[in-house]
Amino acid sequence: MAETALFDTFARAPLRFERGEGVWLVTESGERYLDFGAGVAVTSCGHANPHLVEALKSQAEKVWHLSNLYEIPEQERLARRLAEATFADKAFFTNSGAEALECAIKTARRYHYSKGHPEKFHIITFEGAFHGRTIATIAAGGQEKYMEGFGPKAQGFDQVPFGDLDALNAAINENTGALLIEPIQGEGGVRPVPKEFMRELRRICDEKGLLLILDEVQTGVGRTGKLFAHEWAGITPDIMAIAKGIGGGFPFGACLATAEAASGMKPGIHGTTYGGNPLAMACGNAVLDIVLADGFLENVRDVALVFRQGLAALKDRFPAVIEEIRGEGLLLGIKAKVPAGDLISGMRDEKMLAVMAGDNVVRILPPLVVTAEEAREGLRRIERAAETLTAEQLKKSA
Ligand SMILES: *Cc1c(COP(=O)(O)O)cnc(C)c1O
Repeated sequence: MAETALFDTFARAPLRFERGEGVWLVTESGERYLDFGAGVAVTSCGHANPHLVEALKSQAEKVWHLSNLYEIPEQERLARRLAEATFADKAFFTNSGAEALECAIKTARRYHYSKGHPEKFHIITFEGAFHGRTIATIAAGGQEKYMEGFGPKAQGFDQVPFGDLDALNAAINENTGALLIEPIQGEGGVRPVPKEFMRELRRICDEKGLLLILDEVQTGVGRTGKLFAHEWAGITPDIMAIAKGIGGGFPFGACLATAEAASGMKPGIHGTTYGGNPLAMACGNAVLDIVLADGFLENVRDVALVFRQGLAALKDRFPAVIEEIRGEGLLLGIKAKVPAGDLISGMRDEKMLAVMAGDNVVRILPPLVVTAEEAREGLRRIERAAETLTAEQLKKSA
């Protein structure tokens, strides 16, 4: 590839998409790819969704940007709708998932500070977590590969092994203020947290006066077939970070909280220039129009079932390629027997996009508007990729 003027932080596939329609992306040369990565769980309503396009266009003709020094009605409306649909009373809008987590971390620390416990700034997180790329969120995620070379780890994040209750209980001390967890580890390899474990976390937080912070940046906004993934466990958090799917492709996030958990966040304590921008809010409201419509989440669950069953059948047919199927709703993971990158490129040869995750997993995250027929088309393409890889395996072992 020619020298690029971009930072070398991404190893990019040589694909140039010019436009999208629903679950499809079209290259400059007119090739159509089935997009089951959705920009890593971002384009929840599909590409060029007419309702989102209209919402963005009509806002663009009115006003693009307003400072948070003034009232922004679309922002107020989106906060109200999110509050009505969830555990939360209040929302703070950000530009990204990592910033939503930053706000969640600050909200939790400030809560204990305002209660006279500034020492309770420690947050317990779980191995394999991913919470973003800022200095604080790489410390929260705790993955060495993301912290290496970036100076001392930000203080106040204590990590315990995934799913280890004893280690968790042992790690809680007088400095602990909160627990932070993804209901399903996305980038960590589509690893769901068992429902009983989620309920146990809620119980521990209630008993010890800790705040439960959920990172639903990837799992939220219908991705798992519920509006938020924690609903599967029948519990609610005190604070929650969201992003990705809520913008449908327009970059923004939010930190949601109960009034109590947000009680330390007073005027001047935290802020943002772009967060809650009218263009972003118009898109967020348009996404909610779609995701909260009657029957939408039910349809996500129905299509997810078709897809899941199809993947289970492929696992049985191609044991040399597929080890396990995991996940919930339309956040699915194929744990591969071959290198996951080989399966992804095999799928790309079949003109289908998916995303790598940790633990040798291929993440499948189609737009939530995917139909059963499109899911079956996806399955056919994975099947062809698995056939090719199986043939290569046989050739190698012969
Ligand atoms: C993507 C992601 C983030 C970071 O979001 P950005 O918008 O990239 O900052 C944080 N947490 C989880 C679970 C994510 O999937």
